[in-house]
Amino acid sequence: MVNPGGKFGPYNQPGPTRSEAVSDMRDARPLSGRSQTGAELVRARIALRVRLGSLSPGDRLPDTGVLAEELGISEITVRRALEGMCQDGLLDRRRGRAGGTFVAQGWARVVTLLYDADEAASLDAFHLLLECGLVAHGAGELPAGRLAGLRALVDQTDLADDPARLLELETRFHLDLAETLGGAGMRELTGDLIGRLCLLRPAPSPAVVRDRNRCHADLLTELGRGAMDPAVRAVKAHHQAHQRIHPG
Ligand SMILES: [Zn+2]
Repeated sequence: MVNPGGKFGPYNQPGPTRSEAVSDMRDARPLSGRSQTGAELVRARIALRVRLGSLSPGDRLPDTGVLAEELGISEITVRRALEGMCQDGLLDRRRGRAGGTFVAQGWARVVTLLYDADEAASLDAFHLLLECGLVAHGAGELPAGRLAGLRALVDQTDLADDPARLLELETRFHLDLAETLGGAGMRELTGDLIGRLCLLRPAPSPAVVRDRNRCHADLLTELGRGAMDPAVRAVKAHHQAHQRIHPG
């Protein structure tokens, strides 16, 4: 267990939002972002695919062996994780020729039953610290043109109407941001955090996603001109946009 303020204190830039951010962290439980079991990893990866729309309710999952290979986890661990998700009602198992493991039609409803505000706040705090660190680390060192893909995502989010598409774009922004600033490993870590959050808290509403997208745009503007402090503040404002609309 790691004290978030102690471990990541240097990234906590002084500024107008400081007192809110600090109280935020004091309320967070010890971070659980780093340690996860194989079963949790399987759950997070499947949840991320559902969030990104590459798996939808009613879709058949790849075979256990294929999933084990993709995730670098033993087949028995994958099988047990899928059994747990079937018991939770996130997945359905069907027997017979057209059988297999499917994303349950009631996926979104089951997620609302798994709601865990404390655990979600803890992962959120870790995600915030990770992004503040990546942004502080990358600001001023990004070659011109590296942010073009992220800017395109912001524009697509502005134009999107469909709630599922908005969630997909919001998630892709954070994955691409982590990769742009920290490489493939940071993308994977971010994906696992977001995947776990997908199962701990109902998805944000379109209004929240649009509000956050303004923070995405601000962040890219500040990163583009190498302004570290305002860029970090945009990351914090993004985090607070969620809390302003959904206190607690
Ligand atoms: Zn966002």
